[in-house]
Amino acid sequence: MSATLATVSYIGATILFILSLGGLSNPESSRRGNLYGMIGMAIAVIATVFGPNVTSGGYAWIIGAMVVGASIGLYAARTVKMTQMPELVALMHSLVGLAACLVGYANYIDPAASSHLSGAAKSIHEMEIYIGILIGAVTFSGSIIAFCKLSGKIGGSPMLLPARHWMNLAGLLVILYFGREFLHAETLHDGMLPLFVMTFIALLFGIHMVMAIGGADMPVVVSMLNSYSGWAAAATGFMLNNDLLIVTGALVGSSGAILSYIMCRAMNRHFISVIAGGFGTGGGTPAPKGEGVQPAGEVNPILAAETAELLRDAKNVIIVPGYGMAVAQAQHTVYEITKVLRDKGVNVRFGIHPVAGRMPGHMNVLLAEAKVPYDIVFEMDELNDDFPNTDVAMVIGANDIVNPAAQEDPTSPIAGMPVLEVWKAKTSIVMKRSMASGYAGVDNPLFYKDNNRMLFGDAKKMLDEVLVVLKT
Ligand code: NDP
Repeated sequence: MSATLATVSYIGATILFILSLGGLSNPESSRRGNLYGMIGMAIAVIATVFGPNVTSGGYAWIIGAMVVGASIGLYAARTVKMTQMPELVALMHSLVGLAACLVGYANYIDPAASSHLSGAAKSIHEMEIYIGILIGAVTFSGSIIAFCKLSGKIGGSPMLLPARHWMNLAGLLVILYFGREFLHAETLHDGMLPLFVMTFIALLFGIHMVMAIGGADMPVVVSMLNSYSGWAAAATGFMLNNDLLIVTGALVGSSGAILSYIMCRAMNRHFISVIAGGFGTGGGTPAPKGEGVQPAGEVNPILAAETAELLRDAKNVIIVPGYGMAVAQAQHTVYEITKVLRDKGVNVRFGIHPVAGRMPGHMNVLLAEAKVPYDIVFEMDELNDDFPNTDVAMVIGANDIVNPAAQEDPTSPIAGMPVLEVWKAKTSIVMKRSMASGYAGVDNPLFYKDNNRMLFGDAKKMLDEVLVVLKT
């Protein structure tokens, strides 16, 4: 393929990526957005593989790598459960970071990459390598820790080392010092030591940064690492002189940054405070996780049949789904119930919290999969004022996002986070298996309110029972 055709293909792919992001911003156009993204990526791969920068000797390597990568990707896509998607995404971000590091080292070692450069051009190339490896290493180790936290392999509570901000500052100064040493290195050998030291510190920084972030603030970390992975890809593009990779990386990096901002706003957090770590660790005492947690008050249990009666008699119902709905895979039954109620003239709407579930848009994806019409799915802000006029607020496997402690208890670790005010409905029903706390590990006073009922059990099983009664 000629260089001109490759450039034209890259421009086409860039336009498709931008259209893809535009499409993904709305559930109704998201399928189209995905399609644009897939076509754009296919064009990008073909134009790169058959482009002027690949010699015929490279094909065997590329085909081998593609077979391995595609097999792992296909296997993961077929076997990973919907509830494991956030972990998978974190793992993929880590691979982008690792790739940036490896490309950086390969680029530095390869004499062909820089032998034709001198003076300022050489310094700029070396800065690209240094910064590329730096971002890549932070993304790699941070994403691995995020993966471990999201999959429950390590606990969600923040690890707060004494003088952690000073440690971060010291790490930054060392990185700057060795950056200078790297740029002044005369030989490959001289440059390797600063590069190794910086990589080591960057890896530690990534670990420290994510370890210091409290459970409820993880959504910001996930979107932030998404952004970092974009910048790591852009840095790789600079090192490889690949314009498409620079543009694509910048698109991912900036859209991830915007998402982080939206997540911060949704949780009433300041970005810097989240990144500095330790946010949401106030004086509140997190409840231990797991079953068998001692209740901090009396709760009013309810049966599935009684729940069905309440729903049948209601005029306005708001359903609030959370992570437990994803675990139970209850979205299809939820929609069946919605259909039955709507046929009976009940006004059923869904209230979606921006951080419900374990990844941005988690609930929207599940509801779309179950074919719930988009026009009855609302953002938290759109219907939070409507709870006082709601007969039944049905909370399905959600916990932190409906926790009144966020408003009522200034010492709570989630204080200040906006929540869905389900307790203002005439009756709220919380569907979960036990009294265990949610992801943030805090007790939920909603469970003990007079107008709240607890429907204990697996959400899918309970909703199946509710549906049977509703249909009779
Ligand atoms: P939570 O984790 O707060 O609560 C989920 C509840 O679901 C649990 O209390 C659990 O209780 C219940 N549950 C689990 N399995 C089932 C089941 N099979 N049937 C019925 N109930 C079940 O989830 P929320 O959606 O309310 O809040 C999301 C939390 O995750 C927030 O703290 C957010 O910050 C965090 N987070 C969000 C991310 C995002 O991007 N959206 C990313 C990372 C973290 P029990 O065990 O008793 O059944």
